[in-house]
Amino acid sequence: MQKEVLPNIEQWEEDKKLPREIWRKMGEMGYLGIGFPEAYGGMNADFFFDVIFLEELARSGSGGFSAAFSVHEYMAIAHINEAGSEELKQKYLVPALKGDKIGALAISEPDAGSDVGNLRTTATKKGDFYYINGSKTFITNGVYSDFITLAVRTGGNGFGGLSLIIVDGNSEGLTRTPLKKLGWHCSDTGELAFDNVKVPVENLVGEEGKGFYYLMDSFRLERLVAAVMSVAGSELAVEVTLQYMAERSTFGRSINKYQVLRHRFADLATEIEAAKQFTYHTCWLYSQGEMAVKQCSMVKLLTSELAKKVADVCLQSFGGYGFMEEYPMARMFRDTRAGTIVGGSSEIMREIIAKMVIDDVQYNSAYQEAGENNNQAEEPDAKAIIQSIPSRFRPEKAAGINTIFHFDIAGDNGGQFTVIIKDENCELEEGLQHTPNCILTAKDEIYRDVELGKKSPESAFMNGEIQVSDIAEMMKFTRLFKRVK
Ligand SMILES: Cc1cc2nc3c(=O)[nH]c(=O)nc-3n(C[C@H](O)[C@H](O)[C@H](O)COP(=O)(O)OP(=O)(O)OC[C@H]3O[C@@H](n4cnc5c(N)ncnc54)[C@H](O)[C@@H]3O)c2cc1C
Repeated sequence: MQKEVLPNIEQWEEDKKLPREIWRKMGEMGYLGIGFPEAYGGMNADFFFDVIFLEELARSGSGGFSAAFSVHEYMAIAHINEAGSEELKQKYLVPALKGDKIGALAISEPDAGSDVGNLRTTATKKGDFYYINGSKTFITNGVYSDFITLAVRTGGNGFGGLSLIIVDGNSEGLTRTPLKKLGWHCSDTGELAFDNVKVPVENLVGEEGKGFYYLMDSFRLERLVAAVMSVAGSELAVEVTLQYMAERSTFGRSINKYQVLRHRFADLATEIEAAKQFTYHTCWLYSQGEMAVKQCSMVKLLTSELAKKVADVCLQSFGGYGFMEEYPMARMFRDTRAGTIVGGSSEIMREIIAKMVIDDVQYNSAYQEAGENNNQAEEPDAKAIIQSIPSRFRPEKAAGINTIFHFDIAGDNGGQFTVIIKDENCELEEGLQHTPNCILTAKDEIYRDVELGKKSPESAFMNGEIQVSDIAEMMKFTRLFKRVK
């Protein structure tokens, strides 16, 4: 980084692009495959080696440089590694780890950014090919990438209709246009238009219809990556500012002697250290295979908002020089601004955290489930899931809640059941007894898939696949139970 990157960053920012050569050099050093299997040219190293790499990317002081590489390694190619076929791995993953092929991940569309379930770009299967139509916007590495991991709609509306497909950058019918932007200048951010782009069916990543779940799963890593880089970027900003403050004098004293400024930096240093420890802890949880959705969302929110504040205070401390391009703060200030928008905005992070801490929502891993589900014999059916209700009951959550539920589940693996919650006890009876406070009606497979996290409850409710007579009562009820394992 010292030899190959830092001396060239200014030029790349002016050129508004990165040379191919630096991708290959990063590949040669092994930096593009730190956590990937050795069989494909990776290092198979511990996640904390990734953390160190990400910190060094951020220390380039260029959000654009950091974004280009982190999107390639931790977003575009991660899906191929997790769920792609052997053929896709040989064709895209192997050259991507060498830096010979650059990847992009295209989810956002002009009318759907935060609202991923509303994506409209379609992939229609005819024979051995998908035909892709639609558009994507704000895509990092969008114009110069060799391949794009593309989120498309292969099925109906909602979350269950999405899939991931790899599209070659030079495909006929694909038009790519660079976007002008406030910061991240050396990163290429593009708009993509797909006009009947023909892609072989082998380019589907994993299973059709699982795209949303793959994306949700990988957002944890994306957010953790953003957090690590926000912390390291904040440390760099403070470091260069303190150096400047030691050299700059006003009224006969160096400005780092003014208590008002000293206290400001004492506060920032404390907040950065706290955020760093929380981020490292979350990295550790992630490296241990924990889902850590809550922590990943929290550190993304905390550190990107903190980085924005740090950049503002640091720029102020540079006085007029902070506003000048020849000083590093101007770039750090504008580049930091993207952090609270990309990879899920701060508002979306708060939504996720609120659902988890207030509504007790929990998230499962789509990839883990795909692996576990290889053993179909162990997967419980709808009836077994309902019968497990008393063993999953959490009496500590049931104080003051008395309610009666009817489960009317159609199909061979369904049945009719009554669940009675009374005085912090839970009883299950066969048949539909007593007057219920809420009735849930569904087909056995749908109910099972929702309970196992394979199908989104929101889309099942919206499509009418699950009917609930009283949603508020249902939400209250759901919080009383542990998830199905
Ligand atoms: C430099 C840059 C690089 C990017 N790179 C990529 C990339 O490589 N791949 C990719 O797919 N995308 C990329 N994006 C897109 C980015 O992920 C989206 O911009 C982001 O998800 C927000 O979507 P949006 O812009 O459509 O805003 P919107 O979703 O329209 O949101 C607008 C505002 O409303 C708020 N909002 C939306 N919904 C809610 C809600 N439910 N509650 C409260 N507030 C809400 C948002 O927080 C935001 O403040 C990039 C964006 C930028 C700026």
